[in-house]
Amino acid sequence: MSSCIVCNQAAGRKLLTFRALEVQTLPIRDIGGERKVQALGSFHEFCVCENCAKARKERNLDVGKTIRKKMMCFGAVSVAGILLIVADILLLRRDRVFFMLGLFAVLCGILGCVQSYREAKQKRDSLNRMKEEEAVLDSAWELVVEHAPKKDGDQDLTYIPVTKKTLSYKNGDIMIAYNLLPEIAVEAHKRIHS
Ligand SMILES: [Zn+2]
Repeated sequence: MSSCIVCNQAAGRKLLTFRALEVQTLPIRDIGGERKVQALGSFHEFCVCENCAKARKERNLDVGKTIRKKMMCFGAVSVAGILLIVADILLLRRDRVFFMLGLFAVLCGILGCVQSYREAKQKRDSLNRMKEEEAVLDSAWELVVEHAPKKDGDQDLTYIPVTKKTLSYKNGDIMIAYNLLPEIAVEAHKRIHS
């Protein structure tokens, strides 16, 4: 019997089931730069219980909760940068490299905080525009993306869910939404409609 990909429970819980097509991507770095080789794998079934999906939805609706961890990380980067600048001024007699390194860390920290806040706010606003059922499904899929296997050897694994939305996509939409090569997008379109 299938169980929730997050809490591993099944008994007494309503499970939301996704059928998803595996995409295998092998990034290749050579003299010509970076390119990728892509192939489609098999279909997988992923389940998320309604409790986990609803809890994720509630968290996504609370921007403060969503970004707390990231803010702490980026805040720590900024503080480390400030400490480096202070240490540079006090101890290293204004070494330009250390100063720039500190400044870079402060800026990265601030930009990271701003970006995290923007993303969390966008997510909250998009959930607010959805109907309850759609918002729960969206949060459930987010959990699948987080918990499903991401690697098979050197290959990166991603998944295309078979949903009303993806079934309405044209080849070009699938290509953009799931970062596919054009020929793989055509094949994926065929496979999810088969
Ligand atoms: Zn669960």
